[in-house]
Amino acid sequence: DIDHKHCEGCGVELQTEEPSRLGYIPPQALEKTPVVCQRCYRIKHYNEMSSIALQQDDFLKILGEIGHTRSLVLHIVDLFDFEGTLISGLQRFIGTNPVLLVVNKIDLLPKVTNLNKLLNWVQKQAKENGLKVADIVLVSAKKNIGFERLLEKLDQHRDGRNVYVVGATNVGKSTLINRLIRDYSDLEAELTVSQYPGTTLNLVHIPIDDGSDIIDTPGIVYKHRLTELVERRDLNALLPGKPVNPMIYQLNERQTLYFGSLARFDFVKGPRQSFTCYVSNSINIHRTKLEKADELYVEHKGKLLQPPAEQDLDKLPSFTKHPIHVRKGRMVDVLISGLGWIKLNSEEGAELEVHAPRGVKVAVRDSLI
Ligand code: GDP
Repeated sequence: DIDHKHCEGCGVELQTEEPSRLGYIPPQALEKTPVVCQRCYRIKHYNEMSSIALQQDDFLKILGEIGHTRSLVLHIVDLFDFEGTLISGLQRFIGTNPVLLVVNKIDLLPKVTNLNKLLNWVQKQAKENGLKVADIVLVSAKKNIGFERLLEKLDQHRDGRNVYVVGATNVGKSTLINRLIRDYSDLEAELTVSQYPGTTLNLVHIPIDDGSDIIDTPGIVYKHRLTELVERRDLNALLPGKPVNPMIYQLNERQTLYFGSLARFDFVKGPRQSFTCYVSNSINIHRTKLEKADELYVEHKGKLLQPPAEQDLDKLPSFTKHPIHVRKGRMVDVLISGLGWIKLNSEEGAELEVHAPRGVKVAVRDSLI
């Protein structure tokens, strides 16, 4: 009987139902001693950290706790979904503690990207979103880019403080931390898991070479990201593994682009111009006329228009329309959180309409590239 059994590692209440949730233990592992959750098991035996996810309320509780400590907050965001992965109101919760903004997945941008320009862009966007940062580091956890600089900045800003790592799910937090563990931590020391007093939330302490700890917190689930709404198999299609191949479309007004059956981009009105799509190479983009767009969707959703496949389509919320007016003289991207963005290449202005599953964040911003 599993009721009210607790993990002997971190103290979390155990459950055998959902592998992605806190306290999961495979049923057969209940027979073993000590009884530990899958997460603690991996940490203990493989020195490998895996992320767990929390909904907003529990997550904010943790941020609030951090506000009561003297610490450095390492906020990881995903460059591929910058606005979607920024933790809004972060500053309000963590008080006067400084934030080191770590922008991950820079390997996904085309090779030509100018890193200084990118840094300026990040700085400006962070500011516009109300986040004051002590410093910014661009990294790729997967390709091992930027880590020397990250450690330098950590050293420079921590000043004897604890370091808390915070981020949304799927930004690459565990990839980054596992790299820190493998390449930069004191391998003699073990990862340990502790529990937040009075909660079921657990924190992983990672010993770093200089004798101090980095503390990982659970990831926050943002339902405004397409990545959090799709099934597991489509998540792999959405998250690019390789640099994205920007796809350029010359469109006349009253033309439409479908991104699988995940989103639709209508160029409603404006002079002929080109649009560059930065989405994972596994998403099929299909062009059609606006008049035919509804009909095409009804006939081909989940088939010609993939992902998702037909059987998974029902699980996505239905489309909501976002009318967008881009005024003349502005270079912008239209971001569809978790999918990518579409860059308008002229400053001619345009009337657009984006259709995305209900709840998914759609935003207009200054062009990244
Ligand atoms: P977490 O939920 O924040 O712990 O994220 P994970 O570390 O599990 O990573 C989520 C996904 O992003 C996985 O598919 C990773 O392979 C991928 N990922 C992580 N870091 C990078 C990176 O630097 N570049 C790219 N291209 N993918 C990454």
